[in-house]
Amino acid sequence: MTTTRFAPSPTGRLHVGNIRTALHNWMLARQAGGTFILRIDDTDAERSREDYVEAIRADLTWLGLTWDREERQSARLDRYAAAFDVLRAAGRIYPCYESAQELEVKRKIALGRGLPPIYDRAALKLTAEEQAAKEAEGTAPHWRFLLDHAEPIQWNDGIRGLQKFDPAQLSDPVIRRADGSWLYMMPSAVDDIDMGVTQVLRGEDHVSNTAVQIQIFTALHAAGFGAAKTIPAFAHEALLVGKEGKLSKRLGSLGCDAFRERGIEPEAIIALLARLGTSQPVEPIADRTALTVSFDLGTFGRAPAKFDEEDLERLNAGIVHQLPYEAVAARLPAGMDAAGWHAVRPNLAHIGEAADWWRLVTGPITTPAFTDEDKAFLAEAARLLAWGENPWGALTTALKEATGRKGKALFLPLRQALTGMDHGPDMGELLPLIGEAEARARLASAAA
Ligand code: GLU
Repeated sequence: MTTTRFAPSPTGRLHVGNIRTALHNWMLARQAGGTFILRIDDTDAERSREDYVEAIRADLTWLGLTWDREERQSARLDRYAAAFDVLRAAGRIYPCYESAQELEVKRKIALGRGLPPIYDRAALKLTAEEQAAKEAEGTAPHWRFLLDHAEPIQWNDGIRGLQKFDPAQLSDPVIRRADGSWLYMMPSAVDDIDMGVTQVLRGEDHVSNTAVQIQIFTALHAAGFGAAKTIPAFAHEALLVGKEGKLSKRLGSLGCDAFRERGIEPEAIIALLARLGTSQPVEPIADRTALTVSFDLGTFGRAPAKFDEEDLERLNAGIVHQLPYEAVAARLPAGMDAAGWHAVRPNLAHIGEAADWWRLVTGPITTPAFTDEDKAFLAEAARLLAWGENPWGALTTALKEATGRKGKALFLPLRQALTGMDHGPDMGELLPLIGEAEARARLASAAA
């Protein structure tokens, strides 16, 4: 049974990068008929905000990324304390007393010597008396997880292939602060165990976290913590970059609110993010099931995926052209029926533009000044207009015969007289919507 999770920290709004991770985890779960968990990573009480939690839910709902279960880290602090006790009893957690400044100095010294800034485990060498002395001075400890240096850490990454880390090249991670609060590293592993997560798919900025977490999983399993005995399968996707490089500066403007305001449909975002950075073609596929079925980690590349807003616009237009009337009815101008939607749909980049084209039907319209020759032609058109199955086809055929005009000379004055525009939706669909009396009146007024 596949179980995936999307684990945002509610310290801001979702942006394209997070949305992509959420979507891919959703697709993995849906593809397998499994479970998709929304996990709110809110152990950082100071930076987490309830309005962001609500915005995350609202954005996922707008995108149609429904979750089967919601979990909150702030409700699971007892579990983290239990895991901590187990790991501590197993000798895998040790107290540290360095201040942030001391650690910074150590880091700079290492870097100055051309060495990687790995924590030197000085606190591990403290005797019980030295520890007691630190505490007597009023320094509360923070806590590190003791990495096992005996063997390399490896996993077969679903996207990156075989990954190998030398644990000696990693710092023992701080997992708990001096005030007792939790950092990300251990709670996430505890949750994955307790929630039966089988697949972890996240950004490649988490690759070294995975190395550490694999040791945390192994240590927890060995200590008999939790029911699960297997480590999830991991996959790390290349980061999203903008057309001109880094996306981070622009991320604030690349969230659901901004997309919605610009008239971008959720299905366009889904179609783009489902395949961006993969070898599968990015196409305006409105059928989410088709996208889900074809979703395949094996098609992901290692190079950063380029997010281009022009692609999104192009896909949006392609999606809008496919949307059925029922899906958009509530967002269309009053009076616009299915025939109206079908007439204007091919001309839209965004649904909001339907109202502009619909005004051509409802009027009033402003027509350009016509030459005397065109006026005579339009007067003829008003005479020949007959209402039947296909009034536009009948009118243009009759006019062609009567006047010898063809091509642009035939069609443009008619379009201008009937809609006030040089271009627009198919006249064959538009004319029946304008209606016989109104069409005749428009032709007559243009001819006058
Ligand atoms: N809250 C973490 C983040 O947003 C979750 C990472 C993970 O998927 O484990 O980066």
